Amino acid sequence: MTYKNFTIETDADGIALITWDMPDKSMNVFTEEVMNEIDAIVDQVVADAAVKGVVFTSGKSTFSGGADLTMIRSMFSLLQEEQAKNPDTAMQKLFDVAGRMNWLWRKIETCGKPWVSAINGVCMGGAFELSLACHGRVASNAKSVKLALPEVKVGIFPGAGGTQRVARLANTQDALQMMTTGQTLTPQRAKAMNLVHQVVEPDQLIPAAKQMIKDGLKPVAPWDEKGFKVPGGGIWTPAAAQLWPAAPAILRRETAGNYPGALAILKCVYEGLQVPFDTGLKIEQRYFTQVLRSTEAFSMIRSLFISMQELGKGARRPAGVEKKKLEKIGVVGAGFMGASIAYVSAAAGIAVSLIDRDDEAAAKGKAVSEKLVADSVAKGRMSKEDGEKLLSLITPTADYSTLSDVSLVVEAVFEDRQVKKDVIEKVEAVLPETAIFASNTSTLPITGLAKNSKRPKQFIGVHFFSPVEKMMLTEVIVGEETGDEALAVALDYVSQIKKTPIVVNDTRGFYVNRCVFRYINEAYDMLIEGVPATMIENAAKMAGMPVGPLSLNDEVAVDLSQKIMKASIADLGEASVKPEHMALVNKLVDDLDRRGRKNGKGFYEYPAKPAKKFLWPGLKDLYSQKHASEVDVNVLKQRLLVTIALEAARTVEEGIVTDPREADVGSILGFGFAPYTGGTLSYIDGMGVKTFVALCEKLAAQYGDHFKPTPLLLDMAAKGETFYTRFNPYGAEQKAA
Ligand code: NAD
Repeated sequence: MTYKNFTIETDADGIALITWDMPDKSMNVFTEEVMNEIDAIVDQVVADAAVKGVVFTSGKSTFSGGADLTMIRSMFSLLQEEQAKNPDTAMQKLFDVAGRMNWLWRKIETCGKPWVSAINGVCMGGAFELSLACHGRVASNAKSVKLALPEVKVGIFPGAGGTQRVARLANTQDALQMMTTGQTLTPQRAKAMNLVHQVVEPDQLIPAAKQMIKDGLKPVAPWDEKGFKVPGGGIWTPAAAQLWPAAPAILRRETAGNYPGALAILKCVYEGLQVPFDTGLKIEQRYFTQVLRSTEAFSMIRSLFISMQELGKGARRPAGVEKKKLEKIGVVGAGFMGASIAYVSAAAGIAVSLIDRDDEAAAKGKAVSEKLVADSVAKGRMSKEDGEKLLSLITPTADYSTLSDVSLVVEAVFEDRQVKKDVIEKVEAVLPETAIFASNTSTLPITGLAKNSKRPKQFIGVHFFSPVEKMMLTEVIVGEETGDEALAVALDYVSQIKKTPIVVNDTRGFYVNRCVFRYINEAYDMLIEGVPATMIENAAKMAGMPVGPLSLNDEVAVDLSQKIMKASIADLGEASVKPEHMALVNKLVDDLDRRGRKNGKGFYEYPAKPAKKFLWPGLKDLYSQKHASEVDVNVLKQRLLVTIALEAARTVEEGIVTDPREADVGSILGFGFAPYTGGTLSYIDGMGVKTFVALCEKLAAQYGDHFKPTPLLLDMAAKGETFYTRFNPYGAEQKAA
């Protein structure tokens, strides 16, 4: 038999080498078709008496990334359709579909012939679970080999036997830690955890896998043998009595109870280890079906898996403009941002002319890359040669004529209109006619800056976030006159440096900073009301934010907030900033010199390491303090999330953000908006616009007009719409996921 995605070669020893190599994909993923083929292959090798055993591997440089988007999306569509038809049978149907992979892997495990998984590269999710169902696992020791069950990061959990097999191979604490965090394992760590049997040189992978079979590998999983014992002895041991009471508490500390997928892992392991293996699988399948139906899973998969990949692949790229591979760019301004932009560009193989006011300043910018490379080489994350190659791509200079052959310039000079105007003129004097000019400004509207350009169609904003090496998001800002060519090139560049872009129309603060300032402003309001600062910061964490608003303000610098607020007043008038907020920030910056982390004092105190930062006790003296019992933490959580989500809704209403996927992905990647919600707009859609509007009205009555629902929201609530139906990113012909 021949297969579309697999080849089978049986050698003289009767070992069938199954190579998974999907013809139309760069990475192997599970699709309906792949599953059907694996099912047929199991039947074939069992029926073929000449086959003594199977080695399963990948023909690509990676092993497999796990499930395919379309398969996951089809599960949600199925649920929606079935629920509309017959809610009683919908659950059963979802249960059956959700369990398909689980029972197929079990079929491999119990087929009677030995299977060995030969893991040659990244092996994630369902692919790792398939490997765990094989009787032997050999991994190559190449640096690129990484193993993980990362499902929890998109709101679900390993539902194809992962919770049962990992917990029967590794010790329980390691198993829980690995699955509830979605941690990535090196082959060595996987071996130490007893999850792979051998780690070998890449060229020994297939021979070693075959040898396991030749050495008489038993086609029986340990848990199918009589007398099998769970590592550590299972649930009813003194060690487990130490572990289990603490486990839910630790999980709660880490996740604030916001992630049903993470909690389900605990339940699957705790319950599954007390019953026979097949019953354990059924328990897992039940919880998996339950979690799959949760709003959190639906929203997280949509934003963090589907939308993120779609945006990364250029969902918003204008059609009809040829894709460009950038060879050389210019970065003007080799300061804090420019230096790092040069680094990420060179890391993607792009030559960079790094310009500053003089050679010395430019060289200082390149020194940032030199340090990053030295650190990576020292930690073994980069080879010396790769490091040298990266650095050779960055040319520091003060000479603008080096820009005569670039296709893009990223400007990152001082945030000053006049300085930027001078630089635009100097750059355009030498820039090729076709090249694009991108400003990294964070506060100056692009349309205004483009007025200094001779070719505003080729002028755009590419707004990076700091630290540039770590932050995955880039906002691409379209000015009034920006053309499609500029947008396409900007998106090609962002994709080349492996960041996720969101396309945002021009506005003060763009999308991310508008939302972030709402978050910080709400914390100012709370402080002024006398809410203890600790409660504000803790409520934010309990709401799912990675960083409290006061801590975040310290990171971006309190004097930067002051500067931005003053600029708003100058441009938009006194009413644009609450006087109480201005007074608070002026007090901190002007009277107390508390500017944030950068000068070692802000809302927090920053003692010398290893001591940890702590909230500045003097905050208590600024406003008369409420007692903790007078403050409702749930309301604090709601205020922090609602004020951000409302601002996101405003940006949609104003036509700044036009695609709900971008609002959602941008909010999670840009400032970590409570990921379990799926992002700002999914947070609203998830509870229902009607419920959100009612919540806004309640908060507005008590905490101010900034919570009033907008006309768009009122209209959507009246019509029963969601953001993903009203602004359907897939067009009218397709249903929103
Ligand atoms: P910075 O002060 O660290 O760097 C600015 C650099 O520009 C300096 O090296 C300076 O010497 C150089 N420069 C000034 N005038 C110049 C000229 N005429 N020609 C060539 N070089 C010149 O500032 P930064 O924090 O890197 O910010 C740069 C830009 O990036 C600003 O527009 C800022 O708003 C934006 N931005 C900053 C952040 C952030 O977190 N700092 C985040 C996003 C965007």
